[in-house]
Parts: sequence; C-alpha cells; structure tokens
Amino acid sequence: MYDYLIVGSGLFGATFAHQAAKAGKRCLVIDKRPHLGGNVYCEKVEGINVHKYGAHIFHTSNREVWDFVNTLVEFNRYTNCPVANYKGRLFNLPFNMNTFNALWGVQTPQEAMAKIESQKAEAVAALGGREPQNLEEQALCLVGRDVFEILIKEYTEKQWGRPCSELPAFIIKRLPVRLVFDNNYFNDLYQGIPAGGYNLLIDRLLEGIECKTSTDFFTSEYKDWQRFAHHLVYTGPIDQYFDYRFGKLDWRTVSFRTRVEPVPNYQGNAVVNYTSHEKPYTRVIEHKHFEMFGQQVYDCPVSVVSEEYSTEYREGMEPYYPVNDERNNSLATQYRELAAAEHDVIFGGRLAEYRYYDMAPVIESALNRAASSLYNI
Ligand SMILES: Cc1cc2nc3c(=O)[nH]c(=O)nc-3n(C[C@H](O)[C@H](O)[C@H](O)COP(=O)(O)OP(=O)(O)OC[C@H]3O[C@@H](n4cnc5c(N)ncnc54)[C@H](O)[C@@H]3O)c2cc1C
Repeated sequence: MYDYLIVGSGLFGATFAHQAAKAGKRCLVIDKRPHLGGNVYCEKVEGINVHKYGAHIFHTSNREVWDFVNTLVEFNRYTNCPVANYKGRLFNLPFNMNTFNALWGVQTPQEAMAKIESQKAEAVAALGGREPQNLEEQALCLVGRDVFEILIKEYTEKQWGRPCSELPAFIIKRLPVRLVFDNNYFNDLYQGIPAGGYNLLIDRLLEGIECKTSTDFFTSEYKDWQRFAHHLVYTGPIDQYFDYRFGKLDWRTVSFRTRVEPVPNYQGNAVVNYTSHEKPYTRVIEHKHFEMFGQQVYDCPVSVVSEEYSTEYREGMEPYYPVNDERNNSLATQYRELAAAEHDVIFGGRLAEYRYYDMAPVIESALNRAASSLYNI
C-alpha cells in the first residue's frame, strides 16, 4: 500500500512527491503522457533542449523556492530580454528607454516621458470625459498611440483573435513603462533556466520514487485509488475528476510549429515577438539561447526554432490557460466546492485548481500543501 498515489508528474506532483518521500512516505507517481515533467518537459533535438509545451523561464522573488530548486540543480544566467519585430523594425521589451530611443530617437527619460504624456493626453481628450470602453481606448490612455499601434495592437489581436476595439478594457489594467535602459523582462530577484534543462530538475525531484508514464488515472486500475494508497494527490483537470458533472471548463491554447534551421544562430535571441499582422504567429522561440551562451551557440551548428500560434481550443488539444469569464469562474467555484468535500484527496496545480500558475508559485503551493498534509498524517 502506498501512502500517496500522485496523479501527474508536473512541478506540483513532482514537488509533492519529493517532499513526501523525504518524509519517509511511499509514493507512486503516474502520468498519462509518455514522459515525466508535465509542461516543463523538454525534448532533445540536435543536442538542444526544446521546450515542447512552450518556452519556460523560471523567475521568482521567493527565496525559499529559489533555495529549494537550487538544492536540486544549478540555474544558469539566462535573463529574459525579448525583442519585438514590427514589420522588420526591432524594439526591446519590456517598454524601456531602449524601446523609446528606437521609436522616437529620444535620449533622456525626460524626453521619453514628455512624448508618452503628450500621446496619452491626446487619447484622454479624444474620449471627451468618458471612461475607456474597450481595450484599444484603455491602452491608448495608458501609453499613447505609438507604443499601442506598434507594440500592442496587432499582437493582442493575434492573441485573442478579435480587434482590440472589441476586447474588454479590463484585460489590460496597467502597462508599465520603464524610464531606464533595462531590457530584463522580469522584476524578480532570481531567474534562470536549470543548467542541463528542466528534465534534470524533474529527475532530481523524482529520484528514487516509483513512476509510471503512459498511465491515465481514469482508464487504469488506479481509478480505484483507495485499493492502492491511503491518499490521492490529483493534478489533472478538476472537471474531469467529477466526470464533468456541471459541464466542461473552457481553456485557451497555443500551438507550435517547430523546425530545425541549418544555421548556428537564427535570430540572436531566445524570444522574438511579432507585433504586426504581417506574420500569423505571435512569437518565435530559438531554444538554444536558453542554455547556450557565447561560443557555445556556434559550437552547435544548427538551431531549433518554434513559431507560436494563438489557437482556438478544441477537444483533444493541450489545455493551457484557464478562461477568466463569468461562466468558467462560476463553474470552477462549483467544482472547488466538490473538491473541498472529498476525503483524503489533495487537488493541486494549474489543472486541478483551474488557475494560471507560474512555476515558482506552483512549487511554493506544493511545498505548503506537503508541509501541512504530511504533518497531519
Ligand atoms: C505556454 C506556457 C508557457 C509557460 N511559461 C512559463 C514561464 O515562462 N515561466 C513560468 O514560471 N511558468 C510558465 N508557465 C506555467 C507552467 O507551465 C506551470 O506553472 C506548471 O507547468 C504547472 O505545473 P503543474 O504540475 O500544475 O501542471 P502540469 O505541468 O500540466 O502537470 C500536470 C500533469 O498531470 C498529468 N495528468 C493530467 N491528467 C492526468 C490523468 N488523467 N492521468 C495521469 N496524468 C494526468 C499531465 O499529463 C501533466 O503531466 C507556462 C505555461 C504555459 C501553458
């Protein structure tokens, strides 16, 4: 008999299993995919770790989580500095002095501020005293016409598949601008990619723990989990656990077209956003730049790139992002109420909580859930 049957080997399941095993508990981890690691899994192509389920950059200001992952693997010096390509013109992101210099030739924070403020004032005046009614009006009031039209408008339309003038204003609450020459996307204290890739992090988390891949909880003998374990940790979709009793939750998804390019350095950066409609994809990821720096880039003669497309979710696709609207929020609340009434079952992670989670908060949540439940046994 296991102490824990853990459904899902993503960061939630793997972190929970790690802590439980450390506390002397017997665990079995199952995953329906043919590999471990959930969405952080990487596939080796031409010696390059390819982020199969989308580019993943670890970032956090939580010292406890950072220390925890660093006891397992070293992190490299990767710093996320995306570039935007608008009809062949390149701009640094997030919006900062480098961006404003490329846009307008301004050289000082005062000049940049004056430009932004005058364009914001134009947008506010155009509303004639009323509140912004849609995303377009909202963004224009927050950053002005140039930044909106070149870096936000068409990119957002590709992401949502609708004109910005038809999207609700609440999607964009703030659009921070930085009046310093700083291309570091995240404000967090710590960031990087595990040296050797995310699979190594997962391997270290699951070291010595029994794992079975290609094993779907719902179609395997483990569905009757009480025969095998005292407790269940479930990290799959919450609506599926309850047999979609109240209906199916919606998701948004992204699809990827990945190819090998016969050059050592294809675009000179890991992340390039395409902010015009000229290209149908939203981003191009060049995977080697997450883990290869300087001469290492040229020591590997080819490169792997993935185009990222915003895609309407259909049955059978990867569920990536929860949909934050009234119907789904209320459905999720109903399912959470059922989950709270289940005995000996922990629901955790992005699918079981129907919540967008970055990696560090998922690890934090699994550490906390493990600490409270292991203590209670
Ligand atoms: C496109 C994309 C990009 C992202 N980029 C970043 C980033 O740059 N930085 C960052 O911090 N975070 C990022 N994230 C978030 C990150 O992916 C999540 O925080 C993390 O993967 C969540 O881990 P999890 O264990 O909750 O879920 P998952 O990794 O999804 O793991 C759940 C596992 O459960 C398994 N499972 C489900 N149902 C069953 C079943 N019936 N039987 C058996 N197994 C089952 C699945 O196969 C899966 O392996 C990104 C997310 C997406 C979608």
